[in-house]
Amino acid sequence: MSESVHWQDVEAADYGVIGDPVAHSASPRMHAAAYKEAGLSYDYRAVRVPSGEFDQAMRHLESLGYRGLNVTVPLKELAYLWGEGGDPRMGAVNTVRFEDHACVNTDAPGFLRTLRDQRVGPCRVLMLGAGGSARALTVALADAGFEVALYNRTLTRAQELVRAAGVRVQIVSSPNAAGCGLIVNATSAGLQGEAPAMDWQSVEESALAYDLLYGKPSLFLEEASAHRLRVQDGKALLVAQGALSFEWWTGVAAPIEAMMRAIA
Ligand code: NDP
Repeated sequence: MSESVHWQDVEAADYGVIGDPVAHSASPRMHAAAYKEAGLSYDYRAVRVPSGEFDQAMRHLESLGYRGLNVTVPLKELAYLWGEGGDPRMGAVNTVRFEDHACVNTDAPGFLRTLRDQRVGPCRVLMLGAGGSARALTVALADAGFEVALYNRTLTRAQELVRAAGVRVQIVSSPNAAGCGLIVNATSAGLQGEAPAMDWQSVEESALAYDLLYGKPSLFLEEASAHRLRVQDGKALLVAQGALSFEWWTGVAAPIEAMMRAIA
């Protein structure tokens, strides 16, 4: 676990991650390892920013000389509204830059990068969940030619996602993965040690089960392994999104191996 400090008490640094809570974030050690490997003398801090204090905190961090920030729950939507250049279909960003007040979502292209690494090409996908991550990944998958079937325990939230994202997605009434080459758990169930409802009898043996969760055992992936599926946890996405943020800020190719080792 990294140290997190309330934004009013934080020291000057170059980059950081803001959220609430944020002490659990692995980003500080991952980015510190990347700077060391790339020979860059930057500092990266975890900064606690309650959502009601977002605007004040951003002004303060900019005045302290921060160059850019990663953004996590519950601030990604606020960061999208703060910055220029975010994708309105996603409505959330995880990376901002102060120099030009620009923002970008690196979770979405980072996720596609991890699928390429796993040799998963366009196919039918069962997406579980309808929160911020599910929305960004659904847009990225639809753009990349995947056929997304969306299941959420609260149907109205899935409908809201489709309306807001404006991409072609099929809302399904049960977590059935027949014909799917990929099943993505984009729910936050794992944070409570739970797994979302899933019809494991319907899965194809060749499918990849992907949980965005990292840093905790995943009951969803345990269930997938018991059904002999290939599995992927959220560490690969953590590194991929971090690498894209690093490159967007610094213009230097990210040292992926060092970043991966730092969070292993
Ligand atoms: P949100 O809070 O925006 O959305 C949560 C979703 O999970 C909702 O659809 C909710 O359903 C669903 N859900 C919560 N509990 C359960 C449950 N017990 N059973 C079924 N569904 C449930 O979360 P985010 O989209 O921000 O994050 C989702 C997950 O992705 C988190 O675990 C987060 O840590 C992880 N993540 C990992 C990243 C990485 O780098 N590896 C990057 C980004 C996210 P309902 O609408 O019915 O309430």
